[in-house]
Amino acid sequence: MIVAMQENATEDQIQHVIAELVKRGFEVHRSTGVTQTVLGAVGAKVDFDIRDIEVLPAVGQVHRISSPYKLVGRTFRPEGTEIRFRNGLTIGGKEVVIMAGPCSVESRAQLFSTAEAIAAAGARVLRGGAFKPRSSPYTFQGMGEEGLKLLREAGEKYGLLVISEVMEISQIDLMEPYIDIYQVGARNMQNFNLLRELGHSRKPIMLKRGISATIEEWLLSAEYILSGGNYNVILCERGIRTFETFTRNTMDISAIPICKKLSHLPVAADPSHGTGLRDKVAPMARAAVAAGADSVIVEVHCAPEKALSDGAQSLYPNQFAELMDQLRVIAPAVERKIA
Ligand code: PEP
Ligand code: MN
Repeated sequence: MIVAMQENATEDQIQHVIAELVKRGFEVHRSTGVTQTVLGAVGAKVDFDIRDIEVLPAVGQVHRISSPYKLVGRTFRPEGTEIRFRNGLTIGGKEVVIMAGPCSVESRAQLFSTAEAIAAAGARVLRGGAFKPRSSPYTFQGMGEEGLKLLREAGEKYGLLVISEVMEISQIDLMEPYIDIYQVGARNMQNFNLLRELGHSRKPIMLKRGISATIEEWLLSAEYILSGGNYNVILCERGIRTFETFTRNTMDISAIPICKKLSHLPVAADPSHGTGLRDKVAPMARAAVAAGADSVIVEVHCAPEKALSDGAQSLYPNQFAELMDQLRVIAPAVERKIA
């Protein structure tokens, strides 16, 4: 931590700050310039609140140097995390894994026809919500366990792994036999009790970024899962809320290289929720692969105009197939390959 004292700080005030730092276990290195004194405090404690120093008399600025997360940081595993699945698929390696499927599982016919189409186009993971976090309590809330059974059945039939959203602790065990990846939705990114429980699960977790979450908050949420012992976490950028109203959310493509640098965890991108508009999905998916995403998750529906949720951002199967062809061209340009 760096503590820059104000220019008019007295020797007593400087000594007071040094004493407070030492009291908290820091080793202090002092640098006294012509007009200003800067203190370097080494020996970071994870639970240290820098505001305790910021509010001391004559303190100018305080900057944290070490990251508040330990297990998700790149230094913990410089080579990066590769998540391996039972069918040989790997997320976080050289291959970019495409996940696709409807926003919600609505019926057998809807799910199977969508799954068949996305598998034929080259997707490797089937998505579909069985428990839906809807903004309004009066809209479709998902099929529940029935939806999970359909997902597993469709996954087996078309050779796809399955990802679905877990909304609460009581659903973890129920979902376990049906899914390969738990998805934690944007609205639950800071549901710390849920994250802690998922830390005890042995199945990979895709942690979506909260709609107003900073990257640091997002990584700290991932830290909850890793600190429970589950190191198989995929970060998923899914757009954040900004002042822009043209799109449902603002897809933060820059979060991809930032997370790849800060963390060893694989990073996915969700351009469907990231934009909310069908015609913006493919451009953002292409950008995500170019920016280094390890996975892209796309909403695809066999008949989007009839979808019970997120139809406007769901691709038609032929649009998804076209996107896959484009991604196969883009990936080699950044030394990757579509799985
Ligand atoms: C979803 O994937 O359908 C979903 C609800 O995503 P998010 O949590 O990103 O809004
Ligand atoms: Mn959706």
